[in-house]
Parts: sequence; structure tokens; C-alpha cells
Amino acid sequence: MVTKRSWAEPFKIKMVEPLRMTTREEREKALVEAGFNTFLLRSDDVYIDLLTDSGTSAMSDSQWAGMMLGDEAYAGSRNFFNLEAAVQKHYGYKHLVPTHQGRGAEHLLSSILIKPGDVVPGNMYFTTTRAHQERAGGAFVDIIIDQAHDPSALLPFKGNVDLAKLEAVITRVGAKKIPYVSIAATVNMAGGQPISMANLKAVRELTQRHGIRVFLDATRAMENAWFIQQREASHANKSMAEILLEMCSYSDGCTMSGKKDLLVNIGGFLALNDWDVFEEARNLVVLFEGLHTYGGLAGRDLEAMARGISEAIREDHMRARIGQVEYVGDRLIELGIPVVRPIGGHAVFLDARAFYPQLEQLQFPAQTLAAELYLDSGLRTMERGVVSAGRDKDGHNHLPKLELVRLTFPRRVYTQAHCDVTVESVQAVWENRASVRGLEMIYEPKHLRFFQARFKRL
Ligand SMILES: *Cc1c(COP(=O)(O)O)cnc(C)c1O
Repeated sequence: MVTKRSWAEPFKIKMVEPLRMTTREEREKALVEAGFNTFLLRSDDVYIDLLTDSGTSAMSDSQWAGMMLGDEAYAGSRNFFNLEAAVQKHYGYKHLVPTHQGRGAEHLLSSILIKPGDVVPGNMYFTTTRAHQERAGGAFVDIIIDQAHDPSALLPFKGNVDLAKLEAVITRVGAKKIPYVSIAATVNMAGGQPISMANLKAVRELTQRHGIRVFLDATRAMENAWFIQQREASHANKSMAEILLEMCSYSDGCTMSGKKDLLVNIGGFLALNDWDVFEEARNLVVLFEGLHTYGGLAGRDLEAMARGISEAIREDHMRARIGQVEYVGDRLIELGIPVVRPIGGHAVFLDARAFYPQLEQLQFPAQTLAAELYLDSGLRTMERGVVSAGRDKDGHNHLPKLELVRLTFPRRVYTQAHCDVTVESVQAVWENRASVRGLEMIYEPKHLRFFQARFKRL
């Protein structure tokens, strides 16, 4: 008798894209040409692409059908209204400004609310979010709990805000200097770790007492909603949809990259409740993105995103999405390979410092590990360490505690066999770790250097 049945993906595959296998010699050549930066590889030279889950998901037949229903009117496209209705229903905010992707929304929000000299507390930085906050003259201050920086601390909600840290920032700089608190759910840079509902609510209560707004980075808020349902007893019997609405109710609005949770290849939005901020955003979007009913997107893109919202909020979808990430993470843990724990929502993060204790941080252990993985199997991953962290305004390297390599899973794209190959490749690189030397940076761009920096072997 079958007592326990495993789950499988809640879809079947209707269209395929062939993959190319390369030889080690070809990969060595490609890697040198790319300056040991996986962002500079050609995707034709990649076998399994776990660089990012951004814009890399597979759309459904319904989303593709929606693309054919794109209303490409310059103004007032019906697809805008479909998206607006979906955002109001599932996120609960009143007003919507579409943008070409998440950073477009961050640009609008930061430009409107941040003045030079302001401080923006947040639960760990995100690259584009902080870059826009700083560009507007603000300074980011990290208020995440200390354990978020410890890759082995086993906590259910490692994305939580340390309320004492938040209170201390408010006391130090004064509420007037804090235009808003920026809350990510889930926290990408901590390893895709969720924030709890209780913590979100407490942040809202604390900031409300001081008249400070809260904006959510809702890029992966649906994944966060899943974790709340699974891990927070008070919400075990609530639907993901109910949980998402409650999460958003503790904020004044959100910036959103539709390229993550929402199963589209391009798109994003700013959503908010405050009419005045909305009005300004609607003004600015015309300058930077496009008219306020398309925000740099085609009507068909708006439709795909609207349909993506109702697919992504489904629990069978999220079980398979997060289940796949957990499957890889659990197998690596069984093999004794050091990963950030617990396994996060969108990615498995390898602890590069534990792979290469022989390397100094400025010999770029995580950049090195990403290069070694590519050489081994054509697996493409991403550095999340000192290269991603960049420099402060005085030119000093930010030196993050974590040196991580991110294996990020596109949604609905790879099979369990691809996952097994991935695990085997990480295992091979782990076994060869002792002889590995680091890298030297030979070209460093000014903004978001991890995208275009170049390296050579030491
Ligand atoms: C990807 C991402 C963004 C930026 O969105 P883009 O669509 O890439 O511009 C912002 N915040 C988080 C947490 C993200 O993962």
C-alpha cells in the first residue's frame, strides 16, 4: 500500500528549447573571454543557467494566449486595467504605476521620497534598491537581525527586522530624516529568507508611532507568503492569497519586479495607497519610462503580468517552485556541502568562504567558486559577495560577512534531472576545492560593478 506519495510539478511541458553541451576546453576559453565573470558569458556557452530567476521563468499557455490579446493603444490599454485589477485584488494597493522592471519603480519611489541627507533603514540591502536610494542622496542603514548574516543560523524567519536596531536609527537621526523604511520580502541577499507576519506588523506599529512610511520590496512577496503559511503557526490555516494581502496591509505601497514572482520575462510596477505620491509617480513615469498606463511595457507584457499574478498565487505552483529549490538544497546538505540554511525561496546559496578558506576576501572566493562551477559543467551561477557589495561613497570596498554563490532557479524551466546534474557538479567542485587559487580584479565599472567587472587568475 502506498502511504506517502511524492508531489510533482503542476504542469506538463508543451514546448522545448534545446541546450548545448560544451567541452571543458570550450568553457575555459569562454571563461577567459568573459573575464571570469559569469554575467559576461554568452548564454549559448551555458548548459544549465542558474544565474538568476529574473525574467527567466517559463510562461504558461494562458500567458502566451494573453500576449495575443495585447491592446497596443498608446493610452488606456485594456491590459493596463486588467493588471490594475489584479494588483488591487492580490496586493491590495489602490494605485498602480507600471514600469519596465523593478528598478524603474525603485527609481520613481527614491526620486520622490528621498532627499539628500535622508536615511533609509532596510532589512539588508539589495543592489539596485540601495543604488537608487544613494543616487537620490539617501544613506541605507541595515536593520536586519544579526543572524541573517550567519549562513548556518537555523531560524525560520531570517529576514526579520531587529526592532531595537530600527528604534535606534530613529532615535539617532530623527523620524524626519527617514522618508520610509524599506522592507524586502523575501530577503534576496540573506539567501531568500522570509520575514514573519508578526515582525512585519511590529515594524508597522513602531514606524506608525513615528509617522514613518513603510514600503515593501514585493518582488518575492508571494514566496514569503508561502513561508509564513508553512512556518508561522498563526497563519497555517490561511491561504497564500489572504497572507499576501495582510502582508501588504502593513505597508504604504510596494516596488515590484514582475520578472521574479510574476512569471514574466519583463515588467514591474510601483503600487501605493497615497494619492499625492501616486500623482508624482504618475508625473515622473512619463519622463523615464512611458505613459502612466504602459510604463515602458507593451500591452501584451502588461497582460502576461496580470495573468502571471493569478498563476503565481496558486499554492500548487509555489509548492513546486520552492520544493525544487529545497530538493537541491537538501541533497547538498546530505553531501556535507556548506550552504546557507535554511534553504531560501528562490535559490540555494553556497558558502564560498567555507569552500576556499585559503582565499582572502579580496581574492574573491565567491567569484572564484562561480568560475569553477562553470568550468566543471557549464553551470552558470552568480557571485553574491564583495564584488556585488561594491564600494561606499568614500571608495572603500563594502566587506560583507557573507561570500556566497547563488544557484537561482528559474520558475517552471528545469527538470529534476537538471537538478541532479547541478548537485553532481557542485559536489565535484567541492571535492577539488583545496588546489584552487583566487582572482584579481582587472576592470572595475563605477555602478553595480558585479555586472561588468573583469578578473584574471592569480
Ligand atoms: C530583482 C530585484 C529587484 C530589481 O528588479 P529588476 O526587475 O531586476 O529591476 C529589486 N529587489 C529585489 C529583491 C530583486 O530581487
